[in-house]
Parts: sequence; C-alpha cells; structure tokens
Amino acid sequence: MSEAPDATGGGRRVAVVGAGIVGTCCAIYLKRAGFAVTLIDRDAPGEACSFGNAGSIGLTSYAPYSLPGLWRKIPGMMLDKHSALQVRPGQFPRSFPWFMRFLMAGRMDRVTKIIAARKALLNNAMGAFDPILAEAGAQDLIETRGKMFVYESERSYAGGAFDRQVRRDGGARIEELSGDEAREHEPALGPLIHRAVYLPDLGHCANPLRLTQTLVEHFVRGGGTVLRETVRSIEGATGAQPRVVTETASHEADLVVLAAGIWSPALATRLGVKVLLDSQRGYHMMLPDSGVTLRYPVISVDRNALITPMELGIRVSGIAEHAGITAPPNYALADLVVEHARAIMPGLVADGGEPWSGHRPSTPDSLPVIGRAPNNGSVLLAYGHGHTGLTMSAITGRLISELAAGQTPSLDLAPYRADRF
Ligand SMILES: Cc1cc2nc3c(=O)[nH]c(=O)nc-3n(C[C@H](O)[C@H](O)[C@H](O)COP(=O)(O)OP(=O)(O)OC[C@H]3O[C@@H](n4cnc5c(N)ncnc54)[C@H](O)[C@@H]3O)c2cc1C
Repeated sequence: MSEAPDATGGGRRVAVVGAGIVGTCCAIYLKRAGFAVTLIDRDAPGEACSFGNAGSIGLTSYAPYSLPGLWRKIPGMMLDKHSALQVRPGQFPRSFPWFMRFLMAGRMDRVTKIIAARKALLNNAMGAFDPILAEAGAQDLIETRGKMFVYESERSYAGGAFDRQVRRDGGARIEELSGDEAREHEPALGPLIHRAVYLPDLGHCANPLRLTQTLVEHFVRGGGTVLRETVRSIEGATGAQPRVVTETASHEADLVVLAAGIWSPALATRLGVKVLLDSQRGYHMMLPDSGVTLRYPVISVDRNALITPMELGIRVSGIAEHAGITAPPNYALADLVVEHARAIMPGLVADGGEPWSGHRPSTPDSLPVIGRAPNNGSVLLAYGHGHTGLTMSAITGRLISELAAGQTPSLDLAPYRADRF
C-alpha cells in the first residue's frame, strides 16, 4: 500500500473498531498516512449493514430526509402498511426522542445548513474513493452509468421538485424524460411510469460486499492487521493511552477510531458521548434470475424502492423500519419491496430471491458523526452515516486520517461533531 507523501502517522498505533465500509475506509486512509493500523470486528469485514445496501453512489443526494412539511405526512406513513417508513408496535416511545429531533431538523433554516454540510462531504466523496480504488485494483466495482428516478404521476413529479432543485443548484446534470422515453432507456419499465429524470453522472457499486472485502485485502497486503474479536469497551481517560478491551484481549493504541455503525452508541456512551442514533432497518431481495436486464439503478420515487443491477443479479431494496436493534427482521417487508418493484417492472421474476435486512445507523439530521470524542481527544468517531454510508465512507476515512495526523481537516468538521445532540 502506498503511503501519502506527507505521511505523518510515524508508525503510531491506531485501532479501528468496526470493519464495515466506513471503518475499512478509515483503516486504509490511516495506513496510507503512515499509522500502524489494527482493524477489529466481531464478524468478517463488510457483513453487517455494508453487506446489503443498494449500491448507489449518491453524489448529489444533498437533501436530507427530514424536510419542511414532512411532519404532516409522517402519521399517515406510519399507519400505512405499504409505506417505506415502518415503526414496529411498541417501538415508537423508544424512538420518540429521535423523531422529535428528526422533525426539528426539517425546519427550513436547518435544512439549508444540512444541505451545505452534506454537499461538502458528497462533493468530495468520489475524489476520496478514486485513489484507494485504484491502489486496491477495485475500479471496476464503482461504475458511472447514471441513475433514473421514475414517477407515476404529475403529483409525485411535483413532490420531487425540491430534491431536483437542490441537485441542480449543486451542479447536477438532470435529463427530463417522458414515460415512453424512460421505457426506451430501460425497457423493463412498465406502463405505470408517467415520467422520469436521468442523472448521467451518478455511479453505483455492483457488489458492496466485494468492495469492502477487496479494500480489506488491500489493507492487509499493505501490512494492516485485522482481528476478529468482539469489543467490550474503549478505555482510557483523557490524556491516558486508550485501550480497546475485547472479549479475549486488551489492545493498547495511541488512537482509537469508533466506526461500529448502529452499535457505536453502546461503546460511545461509556466514553461519555451522547449519541442519538436510531436503526432504520432496510431490506433487500437479491434476485439472481430476475428475468430483466437493467443498465443502471432505477429509483421509484412514489414507492421509495431502488432497483440496482449487480454482479449477482438484480437487487431491490428499500424500507426504513424503526424496530430497535435486537428485534428479529420482518422479511415480509422484503416481499413488500419486491411488490413495489414488480409494480413498475412487471417482468421482474422474484423466484429464488434471497431476502436480507440490515441496520442503517441513522442520525435525525441526516449528517454523520465525524470528529474527536468531545472529552477524549484520543478517540475519533466515525458513525451515523444513515442512508448514504457507502457514498460517504471514503471521504470519512480521509477526514479521520487527517485528524489523526494532527492536520487541519480538509473540510470544516463542525457540522458533524458528536456533541450537537
Ligand atoms: C437497504 C439499504 C440500502 C442502502 N443503500 C445505500 C446506497 O444505495 N448508498 C449508500 O451510500 N448507502 C446505502 N445504505 C447505507 C449504508 O449501507 C450504511 O450507511 C453503511 O453500510 C454503514 O456502514 P458502517 O461501516 O458505518 O456500518 P456497518 O456496515 O454496520 O459496520 C459496522 C461494523 O461494526 C462491527 N461491530 C459493531 N459492534 C462491534 C463490537 N462490539 N465489536 C466488534 N465489532 C463490532 C459490526 O460487526 C460491523 O461489521 C443502505 C442501507 C440499507 C440498509
């Protein structure tokens, strides 16, 4: 693995907790900066949320999920068994503080600031991916073929106006298509599609698990260490050397990076960090013999379902279910995503589909936590990437390595600080 010319890690030891796509990118960037890096996960790398995402590299997904006026729609969405937002019975009281902050984040003044903060990360996302993909020989895993947003009525098209405007303001190229033009682009689309927009500059990952695995293999080839251990706690008061205590060992380090996705709060709260993270469980169905071919991902705006062509078939995904992190998955929701996908692509064959579910680590303001722990400068935090964690992973890794090296980060990290909650 090549080290950056200004490698300043000087062999100092960093332990990264969590080998999802975010922790893996942190580990790679830290290694490039000259640190001695140990990546710790209780499972094989990339097997949690990073395994099953929709693979979309949402470079212009600038708009947050909470927007002005959404509060009016939420009760109806929660009661609708076909909606993309599901709340398991009994979960609402536990998720109530999160929903309150979610709605507060949807005030226009906040939305403007959140868009700016998302834009800063997303505009640098591909620039951070490019060197590590090239070094790992993984360029084929992220392809830029574009993405189509499809609408079933004038009403839903009008409903998407804010999102399109925010993208345009950020410089996105957007091609308007009629329903027939959309079907010419992607013949699998059926008659329900009324109109569409095509964003030619967006990319997608054809196999998110292989992406994490390939990056980890590259990390190991370059001298990085991977340990398969369950972390119990991160110890060490401010000024003291931090330690990662696992079920089987205690690992001393100069710095620790916490990148454990939805499981980060359990470790962060012991460090005195207040965390407001809720699991928005997503579902996918992997269709190995889908009977349709797609050139690029299609997103149904009406149904919040994403249909992505991947190496192993077509992946249909969607749903944000608040059910806590210990409840078993409800795979009927994977069937619901398939139902939505088949409504707009009638030829889609669902036989032999493999359902999957994973926990999006979601903050209420659609911004990740990236920065130093407020009361312990030796612990760096990198979690809460919600719906866009694949897209934001490499830039997070780069920012964490800059912080670790004591450099001024290339982006202002104030919007992502942990103590904003
Ligand atoms: C259905 C769905 C579709 C999505 N689509 C997209 C998309 O198209 N584009 C996009 O950008 N994002 C998408 N996302 C979001 C993205 O997948 C996540 O934001 C991202 O994977 C989060 O990565 P992570 O590394 O933070 O977490 P994870 O991948 O969950 O990794 C956390 C790791 O920490 C480990 N860990 C936790 N606790 C411990 C412990 N105590 N000891 C040791 N190890 C521990 C876990 O085993 C795990 O490997 C989607 C998510 C879902 C669910």
